[in-house]
Amino acid sequence: MPSISIGTPHSPGATKLMLLGSGELGREVAIEAMRLGVEVVAVDNYPGAPAMQIAQRCAVIDMQDANALRALVHAEKPDFIVPEVESIATQALVGLEAEGFNVIPTARATQLTMDREGIRRLAAEELGLLTSPYAFAGTEQEFLAGVARIGVPCVVKPVMSSSGKGQSLVTDASKAIEAWQYAIANSRGRSARVIVEGFVDFDTEITLLTIRHGEKTSFCAPIGHRQVKGDYIESWQPEPLSAGVLESSQDIARRVTDALGGSGLFGVELFICANTVYFSEVSPRPHDTGMVTMISQHLSEFALHVRAILGLPIPPIELVSPSASHVILAGEHGREPRYTIDADALEAPGSDLRIFAKPTTRPGRRMGVALARAKTTDEARALAKTIADGVTIMVTPS
Ligand code: AMP
Repeated sequence: MPSISIGTPHSPGATKLMLLGSGELGREVAIEAMRLGVEVVAVDNYPGAPAMQIAQRCAVIDMQDANALRALVHAEKPDFIVPEVESIATQALVGLEAEGFNVIPTARATQLTMDREGIRRLAAEELGLLTSPYAFAGTEQEFLAGVARIGVPCVVKPVMSSSGKGQSLVTDASKAIEAWQYAIANSRGRSARVIVEGFVDFDTEITLLTIRHGEKTSFCAPIGHRQVKGDYIESWQPEPLSAGVLESSQDIARRVTDALGGSGLFGVELFICANTVYFSEVSPRPHDTGMVTMISQHLSEFALHVRAILGLPIPPIELVSPSASHVILAGEHGREPRYTIDADALEAPGSDLRIFAKPTTRPGRRMGVALARAKTTDEARALAKTIADGVTIMVTPS
């Protein structure tokens, strides 16, 4: 393997990483990059975002504005452009990559995964991976035809959305139109397009963290998770899978990440029904359910992402112990949150806590995560929930 060189931050030889998106996942990427001597420029749409609070430098721009994004990249000349959210002017990234900038993992991967249509068509139609049956619709008429074709129950989601925004389950076809209206009202940007997916009555859903580095691909142990209204509530690792299901899962993850290309860590989401594995989605970046790796693994998903980005080797990935994460959500709109923490819960061996220090709250906004290690994932899940329940958030009304 060739040697890797890293410069000194704030000097002409600095190795510069520009994070596009400075939330809780970006903050951990920034920390891991800075631990290796990288200069981090944290970018987001609002000031005081979690990663901005710790990166050496930051910038506030509208990341959907292609001109603003291009101007910032040309001014900073980063060695690595690392998107940490989906809502970015990805077309600008394609142009910047053509100019020679290094977009992680690739500009095409960020473009294909920013909307559900790109990645679904790639996975199901080009790669032939098993997915739920689906239909896309851009008008009410197409939508109703899609629901009629897929049947109920079905899941309706805006093609441009994440974390369950605009997502609903249709069980009664005569009420399907409400799901269309809800999806359109909660779509990101100006998109008026939805996906109708057949409901998969899965036994488990997992995230398979997959790392592409050089010519190689590595996998973390499968992460099980529970979502409520399309948003992650808790995750645990390892999720036990039979040898055959694990092999199929890794095969799907390898095929989809090979098709996206580049170097970095991907979160491949899969549904498992008995011995059948369905591809659901992929993020070409660390995954929220993967926050459990901050306690479960010797190298977290963030450390692995940074290693792959820099071209450093990925050693065998060690799972230290069964572990779990549980989110801490805000209940109301407000600013300058204050956190009251139940100290008893944090006395338990294997307990840990992250508070993201976001400047404002809104109902359901993720403000922190509780982490726990134990003898079994069930015990770890119980401890993580106790730690999370012990955190109370008080806000100044905004
Ligand atoms: P997504 O934003 O597509 O990851 O969806 C969020 C969550 O909603 C998933 O993690 C599942 O728990 C659930 N979900 C999404 N699509 C389906 C489906 N076709 N069948 C069953 N559950 C689904």
